[in-house]
Amino acid sequence: MTELLRRNLENRELTRGAGKVSAFISIALGILAILAALCFLFPNLLTTPEFRPLYNAHLLRQLLILGIAIGFISGVISAFRNLNRRWGLSGMLLNALAALLASGQIEPVYHGRSVYAGLDYFVLTLLIAALIFIPMERFFAKYQEQKLLRTGWVTDLKYFMFSHIGLQLISFFTIIPAQIMFNRWLNPTWQQLVSSQPLVLQFIEILIVVDFFSYWIHRSMHKVPRLWRIHAVHHSSHHMDWLAASRVHVIEIITNRFIGYIPLLFMGFSPAATYAYLVFISFHAIFIHANVRFRFPGFRWVLATPEFHHWHHSSEKEALDINFAAFLPVYDVIFKTAHMPAHLPTRYGTTAETKVPEGFVGQFLYPLKRRKRKKKL
Ligand SMILES: [Zn+2]
Repeated sequence: MTELLRRNLENRELTRGAGKVSAFISIALGILAILAALCFLFPNLLTTPEFRPLYNAHLLRQLLILGIAIGFISGVISAFRNLNRRWGLSGMLLNALAALLASGQIEPVYHGRSVYAGLDYFVLTLLIAALIFIPMERFFAKYQEQKLLRTGWVTDLKYFMFSHIGLQLISFFTIIPAQIMFNRWLNPTWQQLVSSQPLVLQFIEILIVVDFFSYWIHRSMHKVPRLWRIHAVHHSSHHMDWLAASRVHVIEIITNRFIGYIPLLFMGFSPAATYAYLVFISFHAIFIHANVRFRFPGFRWVLATPEFHHWHHSSEKEALDINFAAFLPVYDVIFKTAHMPAHLPTRYGTTAETKVPEGFVGQFLYPLKRRKRKKKL
């Protein structure tokens, strides 16, 4: 996508009653429906093997048809209401194409495949997250004036897409090396003991153990200059919302997953507890970045809330290098990095000394570039 097109798509106001909201719904559903139809057509190439047994193909197809119908009708509404009819017509066209692709599909036949793209994971997560968080941010907005299509949303969507479609690639660089490196030190008796505990207990234990590790990884990312250049990408968004959570450099994703996986591997938690934790923490991470005004009095120091994490993203002087915990603020209290005053932060992003580029490619290259040394005068 060219820089010009990106700028054209960003910072747009979706005013109600002008056919813009319906055009947005139509185009978004059209694109997602095309991707979903492709998953039905090429299941072995585009879907995640671990999720396939969980799918009810018949139900998913009904949902796909429903999505196409809503998308097409939204396009029609937009074409009638908006003076600029091309957005509504584009949405109608995308949904018509999705219907064409979906019409020829048969029941997906799965067979093992070593290389795949997690397109199903991307489509489903984006759809669920958008359905939960867009209305939530609309009705409970902390910053009422913030637009849905604010500056940087295209860049963040690319991050969302990469981290979901490239799940296999990320696992390849995290789970497999960890298993190879630590396999000989694992204790099967201990693992059996841990995995036989009730699921809820295992889930709580994972939260406590992994959060301790992630606290120190996160704190190091802020304190070590080379690591900060990687993590600064995540802090570069000037707006907090559900999509801003996805802006994480690939090196950070791999580092976090690799180090975070080590305690899971050693402890030997059951796969069900591990998957439950991964799903929960993914949605929790989106929630704490969301533009919502919930403050959860009574829980402010028990669980990481949007208020707690928004302070971590603030670029105000009082808020630098605080609130590192992902889920349990108690670690910040113990290690003296907690900060949550009564007033709200007013500024987000990095400080003037850290200048992270705007686009996806520029941000990918940012930590890899050598820093120019300041000449001594
Ligand atoms: Zn941070």
